[in-house]
Amino acid sequence: MEKEINIKFEIIANKNQLGEIDKKLYEAAFEARQKAYAEYSGFWVGCALLLENGEIVTGNNQENAAYPSGLCAERTTIFWASANFPNVKIKKLFVVGAPKNAVESTPIPPCGACRQSILEYETKQKEGIEIYFASLNGEIYKTKSIRDLLPFSFDSSFL
Ligand SMILES: [Zn+2]
Repeated sequence: MEKEINIKFEIIANKNQLGEIDKKLYEAAFEARQKAYAEYSGFWVGCALLLENGEIVTGNNQENAAYPSGLCAERTTIFWASANFPNVKIKKLFVVGAPKNAVESTPIPPCGACRQSILEYETKQKEGIEIYFASLNGEIYKTKSIRDLLPFSFDSSFL
C-alpha cells in the first residue's frame, strides 16, 4: 500500500505583506545575519524568535576552525532562548540565510538538525512554532509547525 504525506505552507511574496510584528521579526533576523561568524562557509544566517512574553531573541551562525564545533543560527538562537526563558513559549521563528555578499537569494529552510532541535521545544511546549524562512529580497515561506518540515519525526513520545 502506497501512502502520501501532504504538508501545508504559505508563500508570502513580499515582506511588506507581513503584519507589524512579523515585519519586525524579519528585520531582526536580517540584522542578526549581518553579525554572523561564518568565516569558513561564507554562508551567513540570522534568526529571530518571538516569545509568548513579547521578547524577541536573535542569533546567527557561529563557525569554528574545527568544523563540527560550530552551530547554526536557529540552534544558537533557540538554545539561548531556552537557557534564558526556560518556561516561556516560543511563538514564531524567522530565519534568513544567504552567502555573505549576496544581494538576493531564495528562502532557505532550517537544516535537518535544526528541525529536530526546534521540534524538541515544540513538543515541550505542546504548541506549534510558526516557521518563516525568508530570502534577502523579502519572499517568505511559512509553516504553522516544524512538524510540517519534519514528517515521521522522532520525539519524546517514543521513549
Ligand atoms: Zn541548522
